[in-house]
Amino acid sequence: MAGRQDSHAGPPDAAGAAWGGPGDEREVTLEVHLRPRTMDEFVGQRGVVENLELAVTAARGRGEALDHVLLCGLPGLGKTTLAHLVADRMGGHLHEAAAPVLTRAADLAGLLTRLERGDVLFIDEVHRLPPAVEEYLYAAMEDFVLDIVLDQGPSARSLRIDLPRFTLVGATTREGMLSAPLRDRFVIRERLEPYPVDALASIARRTADLLGVEMDADGARWLARRARGTPRVVNRFVRRVRDLAQVEGEGRITEALARDGLARIGVDEDGLDRLDRQVLTALSRAGGRPLGLKTIAAAVGEDERTLEDVCEPHLLREGYLVKTPQGRQLTPSGWLLLGGTPPASEATYPLPLG
Ligand code: ADP
Repeated sequence: MAGRQDSHAGPPDAAGAAWGGPGDEREVTLEVHLRPRTMDEFVGQRGVVENLELAVTAARGRGEALDHVLLCGLPGLGKTTLAHLVADRMGGHLHEAAAPVLTRAADLAGLLTRLERGDVLFIDEVHRLPPAVEEYLYAAMEDFVLDIVLDQGPSARSLRIDLPRFTLVGATTREGMLSAPLRDRFVIRERLEPYPVDALASIARRTADLLGVEMDADGARWLARRARGTPRVVNRFVRRVRDLAQVEGEGRITEALARDGLARIGVDEDGLDRLDRQVLTALSRAGGRPLGLKTIAAAVGEDERTLEDVCEPHLLREGYLVKTPQGRQLTPSGWLLLGGTPPASEATYPLPLG
């Protein structure tokens, strides 16, 4: 493990309380406890892990800092965990920050000037850096210097501070929102994909082990199938179902107990929760007309980012809705799920985007 950890993450954001983010402080502490300690313990994403291992081994062999790394993917897929593992493998300290709290160049300067050679600076949601802060990062990433402008107007002077060789690991849920100059400065770019059921089932069993609760293979698969491809979600399921196992299930998570546990927290047999259903219902009320994100957010009382990062990817993957140039629209499977039929006028569906 990295010897010292420095966190500037600030409070969890709006998406935190929903499926995607780690949520409150207690949740964050539990997540740290469940985090894989080595690359071998990190389940799945073998292509990404192998590429990072190769880059780390080569950098270490050359006695250099690892090139800057951009990790893309939906919330809860393991970006922060990988940043920790990279810092650990490089023998450096990990310094954590969330882009939205780096509002001024001075916030970034404070972080950068604390780095030591070989350290890893992890910036979560790196696409949300304010442009003025981002500009400082360019020279820091490329030339390992920080140019600070002192004073304003005719007396303005610039002060150059040399920085140690460090590695920036940026995480983003929206690669497309990164500016081209920032994106280009990340030499290593990896994308984490949603996990297959087998991988999630093995994460569930590992988590159950760590939490000291027994879980059989069917119980693990029941949870894994409904975890929207996301380790954070399957871990949350295990924790919630564990309580039920303790109180009513003789300490063992079976399929029947997992089914009951998920139903109690509002996750149905298709893996949909209350918010998913509200979104689908809002679309059905539009009678087949496409709806924009803002309209859906207002209808269900949820923040647009949570809908885009957490709710929609799952509904899109499951084929219940499509994104069209006009907005979001229910598919025939979406209608079927809600027990309705598509309006006749929607018999032909526009081509989905992306
Ligand atoms: P992100 O930074 O992408 O939002 P995290 O790295 O915080 O995701 O992971 C969320 C939770 O899921 C953590 O508890 C983490 O340990 C666990 N996790 C993520 N990926 C894996 C994996 N591949 N194997 C085991 N646990 C994982």
